[in-house]
Amino acid sequence: MKNIIKEILLTEDQITARIKELGRMITEDYKGKNLMLVGILKGAVIFMAELAKNIDMPVLMDFMAVSSYGKSSTSTGIVRIVKDLDCSVEDKDILIVEDIIDTGLTLSYLTDNLKKRRAKSVKIVTLLDKPERRKTEVPVDYIGFKIPDEFVVGYGLDYAEQYRNLPYVAALKEGVYSSKTDNVVF
Ligand code: 5GP
Ligand code: MG
Ligand code: MG
Repeated sequence: MKNIIKEILLTEDQITARIKELGRMITEDYKGKNLMLVGILKGAVIFMAELAKNIDMPVLMDFMAVSSYGKSSTSTGIVRIVKDLDCSVEDKDILIVEDIIDTGLTLSYLTDNLKKRRAKSVKIVTLLDKPERRKTEVPVDYIGFKIPDEFVVGYGLDYAEQYRNLPYVAALKEGVYSSKTDNVVF
């Protein structure tokens, strides 16, 4: 697989060390609360598993899958729920677990959606953040790493459903992928 990788941006050691820190902060901040992690499939699966192991208190874990409406949706922000939660969020302290925040449109929609279902609180933790690409303000409470505007794969993130199982985060070689994230249906 190495031949498709341009550069490793974050090594496995860097990622696991940072997730330990995030886990400690979350454990501290959610003391006495009713924490429910909501992982966004499929990209957040590996991050969520590692994060959950580093949260030292009882947590509920559930998942949602969302998809954008067609290609233009990256700019309209209309999101469709493909798989909904199994558990109710009412009176729970929800922490949405995302792989990466890019335009912010997906998370902006999800935060509103979960608040409307009467969650007690809704916060966000993301492994990666590409602040340069933001189209809407969305408060992100915990960020693993800020990265430049490059298309990345690994640690859960895919290109055409591949490379999610890489244990690090890497940029793809030109040719495998041609820089414009807007042209890709995630
Ligand atoms: P947005 O913040 O634009 O609404 O969308 C975020 C979603 O787009 C992420 O959850 C992820 O699925 C996808 N995405 C954004 N940037 C990248 C990237 O660099 N690599 C990969 N694999 N997916 C990305
Ligand atoms: Mg995602
Ligand atoms: Mg994707």
